[in-house]
Amino acid sequence: MTPPIVSSVSQTLQQLDRVRRDGKRIGLVPTMGALHAGHASLIERARAECDFVVVSIFVNPLQFGPSEDFQRYPRPIEKDAALCAENGVDLIFAPETGDMYASPQITFVEVTRITEYLCGAFRPGHFRGVATVVLKLFNIVQPDFAYFGEKDYQQLCVIRRMVEDFNLRLTIVPVPTYRESDGLALSSRNVYLTPAERAAAPALYLALTLARERIASDETDAAKIKAAATSVLAAEPLIRVQYFEIVDPFEVQPVAVISGPVRIAAAIFIGKTRLIDNVAAGSGLPGSGPELVD
Ligand code: AMP
Repeated sequence: MTPPIVSSVSQTLQQLDRVRRDGKRIGLVPTMGALHAGHASLIERARAECDFVVVSIFVNPLQFGPSEDFQRYPRPIEKDAALCAENGVDLIFAPETGDMYASPQITFVEVTRITEYLCGAFRPGHFRGVATVVLKLFNIVQPDFAYFGEKDYQQLCVIRRMVEDFNLRLTIVPVPTYRESDGLALSSRNVYLTPAERAAAPALYLALTLARERIASDETDAAKIKAAATSVLAAEPLIRVQYFEIVDPFEVQPVAVISGPVRIAAAIFIGKTRLIDNVAAGSGLPGSGPELVD
């Protein structure tokens, strides 16, 4: 059965008040739509842990730069509703921009430090837009659990820290990256790729796994590892590397000498399409505690 698609903020508040009164545990999966099997894996996890699953679909203008793909971002709402129905979603919250930002937003959430490197360095204002809209979504839906993909690792760290710093009363659940069989992480932006670009795209995951293998075989010099990994990407004429970094897994700061768990993260352009991916590494090193998988 297709779940109700509610676009009004006030109606969503009312419906979810009833759900909460019934004592149900609410799980939220925030998305920008164009749903795929990666999103489905978040929904599946929410379905397993919660009584009532909300998927939000909102292409948030606040997190796009002026030259980014806000206008052309895919918005296949009927296909999205079908995927939600197949995966047992209880409610789709798909607000209009004018309802989410009823008066121009002049209050913002800025998570510092964690946003200095990786995507934060190349997409000014992006994480401010993300954190602001996610806080709004949390306040509207008031979930007990919210599900975020490790695919967007820096975003996951930003949201976890916002929850901690603002004493928000919900649990953030990280979900491993869902990949195609050739390693390419599923992304709504993969639809932009031409067949030739799609054929080149798995080089991103290959480069990340090569870096992970170097770390597993005791290479500790991050510069050497990055050079070896980016040479894999340089061999693909369709690919331009925006960044390839090795960072600590909590505050997302670059690491020069690897002595514990790290996250290896990269962003590339293939034609006009920007793709990001990351993997965990160094978990076997001394001092490494429990860690996210990739
Ligand atoms: P998006 O619609 O791209 O904003 O993504 C919504 C949520 O789905 C975010 O928490 C993403 O990290 C997550 N997500 C997107 N792609 C994947 C994937 N391939 N595997 C796991 N989670 C994903």
